Amino acid sequence: MALKDLFERDVQELEDAGLLFSTLEKLVAWGRSHSLWPATFGLACCAIEMMSSTDARNDLARFGSEVFRASPRQADVMIVAGRLSKKMAPVMRRVYDQMPDPKWVISMGACASSGGMFNNYAIVQNVDSVVPVDIFVPGCPPRPESLIYAVMQLQKKVRGEAYDQRGTHLPPVEGWTRP
Ligand code: SF4
Repeated sequence: MALKDLFERDVQELEDAGLLFSTLEKLVAWGRSHSLWPATFGLACCAIEMMSSTDARNDLARFGSEVFRASPRQADVMIVAGRLSKKMAPVMRRVYDQMPDPKWVISMGACASSGGMFNNYAIVQNVDSVVPVDIFVPGCPPRPESLIYAVMQLQKKVRGEAYDQRGTHLPPVEGWTRP
């Protein structure tokens, strides 16, 4: 076995034993993933469930994401909660552009992800056409638990611990490399 492989095996054993043995890159990703601050962006009924995710029962604070920011300049994750009208789309894009890099997007609910029941001229049929979405949350509306699960999945993506449905390892999401 090559020396490098031996070293990596030792590192893995130490990490499995609970010892923190990491690179700076991993440490930064770990810190980022536990302080994902959402920009306040509720659009419709889904927003009520989003607000409920921070209450005493659901307590999104356990995952470091309870600090909803009124200013996009202090936020790094946009939760699009509800249907997006075409009139509102440029405003949402502006808010997204004002968020500092790296940044991520969660599309919450059927309306945000696919237009839901509003298959008409006024509603954007997928917010991914306006901003790059990292996580889609199904449901009408999704329960707060679903949103919390989505935040946990996003944390994995930020730390580079995510896999696709075929078991292929996905690289860490670097927000600044996207359009
Ligand atoms: S998915 Fe359902 S709850 Fe959410 S905005 Fe659409 S209609 Fe409202």
